[in-house]
Amino acid sequence: MAEPSMEKIVSLCKRRGFIYPGSEIYGGLSGTWDFGPLGVELKNNVKALWWRMFVQEREDMHGVDAAILMNAKAWEASGHVEGFQDPLVECKKCKRRFRADQVEKECPECGGSFGAVRQFNMMFKTEVGATDGVAATTYLRPETAGGIFVNFKNVVDSQHPKLPFGIAQIGKAFRNEIAPRDFIFRVRELEQMEIEYFVKPADWQTHFEAWKGEVYRYLDAVGISRELVHELEVPDGERAHYSERTIDFEFDFPFGRKELYGLAYRTDFDLKAHAAASGVDLSYLDEETKERFVPHVIEPSFGLERTVLALLLSAYTEDEMGGETRTYLKLNRAVAPVKVAVFPLLKNKPELVKKAREVYTILKKMMPQTMWDDNGNIGKRYRRQDEIGTPYCVTIDFDTLQDDTVTLRDRDTGKQERLPIGKLLEKLAS
Ligand code: ATP
Repeated sequence: MAEPSMEKIVSLCKRRGFIYPGSEIYGGLSGTWDFGPLGVELKNNVKALWWRMFVQEREDMHGVDAAILMNAKAWEASGHVEGFQDPLVECKKCKRRFRADQVEKECPECGGSFGAVRQFNMMFKTEVGATDGVAATTYLRPETAGGIFVNFKNVVDSQHPKLPFGIAQIGKAFRNEIAPRDFIFRVRELEQMEIEYFVKPADWQTHFEAWKGEVYRYLDAVGISRELVHELEVPDGERAHYSERTIDFEFDFPFGRKELYGLAYRTDFDLKAHAAASGVDLSYLDEETKERFVPHVIEPSFGLERTVLALLLSAYTEDEMGGETRTYLKLNRAVAPVKVAVFPLLKNKPELVKKAREVYTILKKMMPQTMWDDNGNIGKRYRRQDEIGTPYCVTIDFDTLQDDTVTLRDRDTGKQERLPIGKLLEKLAS
């Protein structure tokens, strides 16, 4: 199991402005969390890294950003209206509700017995249109994949991609989870980063294997410890209704080994279902062979909140430095919410502050995630930056005024080196 307790992570996130309970001043809203100033930077970095690796750096990928609200017919065709449900049980005594597959025979709250298991659809229903009665019922999307499938033809007609190719999307999804829990692990409003990778039917296994490799490449890049990740081959009968093969990538969370990401072979289920329900031909013409067929699809699905939680758990470190225990986040530079912090040694010396502002301005232009800190002694400032995972701190002192050198301090080792400002820019830009 990952070492730090959830209490430590939750408390650090609240204290330092990463993640707060949703609607907190009103007593919260179960299954919702708000990202604070540092959390939103971290989250944006995680998404940007994913988008860069899987869309921008490749030639076979196309991004979309589809509407969250979709015509309800899409969710009927995809099988979600009928089948996107979890088994629900209610305690006869205290009336609390649980997911049947997450509890034993008795109510964990009061020991009462449960009534019969019934199926609970997890989609949030909503009304589109201003007039009561004639408004159309639809759903907040429970996964981003739907917005990809309905745009398959648009992307093919406008981009003319050759198979194999993928369509990627990052966005919000909503699930009315029976029992949201474990901080941001199981929430009702979540973000997904999903790819539908379209292939020739005979090639699906090769691409499934390739995407398995890509998942690990992302885990390394984002900073999730591989030793804490395990593959689970999801057996027949337990897979989603559309899947013929699924691997869950599970992570050793402090509350157990649980799904982090999924990789599914969805066959031609979705395109065929949407073609049948919409009456629009969603087949693909292979220009070389002149064959027309419905592509099959491999779907790697990454949850953003679970990524953030797993990488915080992977990064959280306690050690001893200068005879004191310290807490720091060993975040990869790509995702760290602050890349570098700039300190004037003393805040009441105008010439120092002026010089430090100059360095800060240059760095801020080069790396917008640069922070200014002149509060308290240098040791305290280092600790504060360590705790939010800032890889480097730069201090401007009296020597800087003489020779244009600064002190660069490394988060992980605590080592300090003296170097000219020119070299500093070179080092931080690399
Ligand atoms: P679980 O079995 O944990 O409910 P799932 O199998 O329903 O998850 P998928 O439908 O495969 O999940 O969703 C794809 C990804 O979206 C998951 O791997 C996870 O990262 C993320 N995800 C799904 N549901 C939630 C949720 N309620 N809160 C946070 N992330 C979620």
